[in-house]
Amino acid sequence: MRKKSKISVFFKRTTLLITLITSVLVAGLLLFNEYSHYKRQKNSFRESYIIKQKEYIKQITQNELRSIRIDKAIVENKVREELKQIVEQAENLAVELYRKNVGVLSDVELKEYITKIIESFQSVDGFSEIYVTSLDGKGIAYYNHHKFKGENLLYLQDDDGNYVVQKELELLKLQDEGFIHYQKNADITTSREKFAYVKKSTLFNWYFSSDIYLDHFYDTLKQEISQRIANYRLPNGGYVFLNELDGTPLVYDGKVYVGDFKFLDGSDALKDSVFRMEISAARSSDEGGYFYYNWPKMDDTLAIPKCSYAVQYPYWNWLIGSGFYLDDADVEIVKHFSDYRTEFIQNLTRLFLLLSFIILIEVIILNAFNKKYLADFNRFFHYFKNSDVTKKQLNVAKFNFEEFRDAAIAANAMVASKEKMYNDLVIQEEKAKESDRLKSAFLANMSHEIRTPMNAIIGFAELLTFDGFSDAERMEHVQLIQSNGDKLLDLINDIIDLSKIEANQLEIKFREFNLKEFIEHSFQRNNAILMKLFDKEIDFILEDKIPEEFMLESDPVRLNQIVDNLLSNAFKFTEKGVIQLSAEILPNAIQISVSDTGLGISENDILRIFERFQQVDNVMYRTHGGTGLGLAITKSLVSMLNGQIKVYSLLGEGTNFVLQLPLISQEQ
Ligand code: ADP
Repeated sequence: MRKKSKISVFFKRTTLLITLITSVLVAGLLLFNEYSHYKRQKNSFRESYIIKQKEYIKQITQNELRSIRIDKAIVENKVREELKQIVEQAENLAVELYRKNVGVLSDVELKEYITKIIESFQSVDGFSEIYVTSLDGKGIAYYNHHKFKGENLLYLQDDDGNYVVQKELELLKLQDEGFIHYQKNADITTSREKFAYVKKSTLFNWYFSSDIYLDHFYDTLKQEISQRIANYRLPNGGYVFLNELDGTPLVYDGKVYVGDFKFLDGSDALKDSVFRMEISAARSSDEGGYFYYNWPKMDDTLAIPKCSYAVQYPYWNWLIGSGFYLDDADVEIVKHFSDYRTEFIQNLTRLFLLLSFIILIEVIILNAFNKKYLADFNRFFHYFKNSDVTKKQLNVAKFNFEEFRDAAIAANAMVASKEKMYNDLVIQEEKAKESDRLKSAFLANMSHEIRTPMNAIIGFAELLTFDGFSDAERMEHVQLIQSNGDKLLDLINDIIDLSKIEANQLEIKFREFNLKEFIEHSFQRNNAILMKLFDKEIDFILEDKIPEEFMLESDPVRLNQIVDNLLSNAFKFTEKGVIQLSAEILPNAIQISVSDTGLGISENDILRIFERFQQVDNVMYRTHGGTGLGLAITKSLVSMLNGQIKVYSLLGEGTNFVLQLPLISQEQ
């Protein structure tokens, strides 16, 4: 069974539910929007972060490459400077010795003396030695290589196969002094990079030279660079790595590598493949390139996605690179979006508070509404509940809502009409009771009315059987039987007529007839009957204003009955004076009236004489007899002939019944 609920509760619940659902939907939509916005932002942040990071590691790597180049250049310059200084010092020394001893020693002795001194000259660092050669390629002074002394050195080759003296002489043809750079020969494993400095001397036809291998300086430099790179940390904790092309790690996982692991030695396939990627990325262009792989973070074992940039430094067959872990983006996102998240939570809280506030306001409004609504409703409810006892009207002004006010107006109207109906019913009931009472009275009268002539008839008929009466007396008895029989017949006819009228069975037959003739005839007939019947001091007169040929369309039989009835009443209730039958034609009707100078009817009684069984009072009835049916029948007949009847009377003065019939019959 369905649970019954109050309108107010139902309305409140439904409204709140709708608000709640709407709120949840709206909030959900807003949150969803915010979330997708956040997600988009996050993705674009991640993309731009990765782009920036890639650019950053490229910069870092190239900076490092640049630093290496600069460091190397600084070392080279320093070495070259020293080399030049040694040669210049040696040459200056030779010139000084020459100047001091010229003129003292012969040229041959001078040459010998200077050569000896120079041959013992050695650079401070111990790496360089001074060579003196004549401009036609003969060895003059060669420290540690005395066998070259006096030899033709034009075809002297170093370990890499360079014709060193030839090269020096070629340079001196163009300039007085200068450097010669011997690059490392890639085809020879023992090949080394070397600088030579040559300077033409002002003494004899000599030139001074010296050379120096750079390996020693580079080894130190490489260690310094490795250490520096190992110490370097990117802001996100990243590092720069450094490998040799043959797979030897120099700076590995942010530290100078000291172990004996080598990439490509087959000991770790994963690392080998990463190294191969590194090589191919570094070689992908002059600028280097990116590569993606999985690598564990420092001090960790789990390999996670990483992007690195690598570039090669072919001079030392080095690969330099640096990278970042792709999940760094997530760490950055958390950092970057922490404000965003706080704002999101704040917005959520605000939204929640706003919705709660709306619902609170709604509850207050709904409660106020329900209070007013229930007040109106209860006013109605109590009113209807007590409406049997209180016939008061609802106070419309007290209602809160227009609809209830309208309903109250309608209810008031309904109650008023109900009250009127009730009053009418009471009247009807009283009428019905009266009618019942009259009917009983009528029956009593009727039995009396019937019994009186019947008694007379039976009594006189019995007398006829007696012998002691004369013929004249018998005749009188017979006449009395006859007149009482007529009375009885009249009475029965009246009852039959009334019954027919009530049963709607009385037939009305309209036809044209001469009205003047009708009136005259009626007057004559009643004059003959009534004057004789009542035997009173009455002047019965006719005032006939109807034109000779006037024809009326109506039912002459019923009209006759009406006129007879009115005249018979006039004779009945008039003792002396005048009874007048009048007829005339009015603009719209014909008018027949019967006036008398009889008892008259009181104002009160006038209202009821046309009702059935009504007689003015019992005394009158007893005096004059009658059933109280005549005027009721008359009134019904008049209305069936489409006419109307009115009575004007003054008690004790007389009565005037006025009948009007339409000129043209309305029966169609
Ligand atoms: P009844 O058979 O009693 O005459 P009616 O219906 O003809 O019945 O008349 C009803 C009553 O109206 C009469 O009893 C009488 O009291 C009153 N009445 C009728 N006609 C006259 C009249 N011409 N003068 C005085 N009273 C009259």
